[in-house]
Amino acid sequence: MSLFQQGQVEASATVLINSLAQEKIAAGFPIHNLSVGEPLLPMHPQLIQAATHAMQNGKIYYPPVAGVTQLRQLACEWMNRRYQCDYAIKNSLVVNGGKLGIYLTLQYLLKADDEVIIAAPYWVSYPALVKLFKGKPIILETDKQQQWKLSPQQLKSACTNKTRMLILNNAANPTGVIYSKAELEALLAIAKEQQLIVLSDEVYSELTYDHHTFVSCGAFSEYRDRVIVIQSCSKNFAMTGWRVGFVFADEVLIQALTALVGQSTSGVTTVSQHVGIAAFEMADELSAWVRQEMLQRRDAMLDSFKQHFNVQPSPPPSALYFFMAIRDLGVSELSSLAFCRSLIEHAGVACVPGLAFGCEEYVRMSFGLGVEEIRKAVKQLGKFLAG
Ligand code: PLP
Repeated sequence: MSLFQQGQVEASATVLINSLAQEKIAAGFPIHNLSVGEPLLPMHPQLIQAATHAMQNGKIYYPPVAGVTQLRQLACEWMNRRYQCDYAIKNSLVVNGGKLGIYLTLQYLLKADDEVIIAAPYWVSYPALVKLFKGKPIILETDKQQQWKLSPQQLKSACTNKTRMLILNNAANPTGVIYSKAELEALLAIAKEQQLIVLSDEVYSELTYDHHTFVSCGAFSEYRDRVIVIQSCSKNFAMTGWRVGFVFADEVLIQALTALVGQSTSGVTTVSQHVGIAAFEMADELSAWVRQEMLQRRDAMLDSFKQHFNVQPSPPPSALYFFMAIRDLGVSELSSLAFCRSLIEHAGVACVPGLAFGCEEYVRMSFGLGVEEIRKAVKQLGKFLAG
């Protein structure tokens, strides 16, 4: 049966809410869009220059399928320097955003009924993609009391002889959770004992705040053969629209995924890859800029919550989101979807329902947009919910 006949591909709920917001905007309603999943910053002047230079210098033809060598080299050097990994070019693949990296990895590795462990709240696409490739998502609930972290005991007790993979999101969307070195080591030890592959989605690695530091699963040499790291320029360098992401893994897997790229996208747009090269050439400066901007926005949102609500949400240690209990906003409506619909309809504020992340009774609000917009949105929310 085709996917069309099965009606089986789930649209991402974040994309759905964003589209609803865009429709309202197009119809002339002012919408404050807290559903965005990206750091909305202007393109850095050096990246504009790199794009122009690439086009003027003939970087407009098909790219090498696995990616422009210089970009792969720079991305590996960055992983090795920033996160103490040990990747060589042959361990890297350039893909159209981290999302395609996850898609291709699951497409290649899963067979029917393979179980894939995912901690909830999860990024919306994980269960949908696992199901797309006939796998079975095994959702393990985490809660605020356990800091939204999957524990080694939880992982171990969920494993069966069908468990093939753990998808780990560190730093995480929507909770902002960051795992420590010891926590990762404990999870990886269980993964090894249970012979699991670990797909570590690390696309927010540079967006960590305060004293929090990021540790990559790629840094543990004894687990290297079972760890696949997904990276991206999207969030770390504010380059979402350029679609430059990476898979770092064992050479054999990279070759297999390269063949899939060769039969699908033929690689990432050549100009984008040259913008990616420029980004890695100034990686520390660029990510420090994005981090600083996002930190200011996070704190502006925190400040606005203090001003307009009687709550003080804990500041997320990473990523771009406040993940809040609807109850903490003084609301008794506990269906997150109904709550978010009514916010768009009546308050003109778009948020993402917790349901999309496998966590009802919560709502995700992004601080990826500008400070003024954030302040207006939270004020508007406060006005509506008070009224
Ligand atoms: N992983 C997580 C956790 C995300 O939140 C996103 C995007 O929102 C992605 C992966 C995909 O990012 P991209 O495909 O832009 O690299």
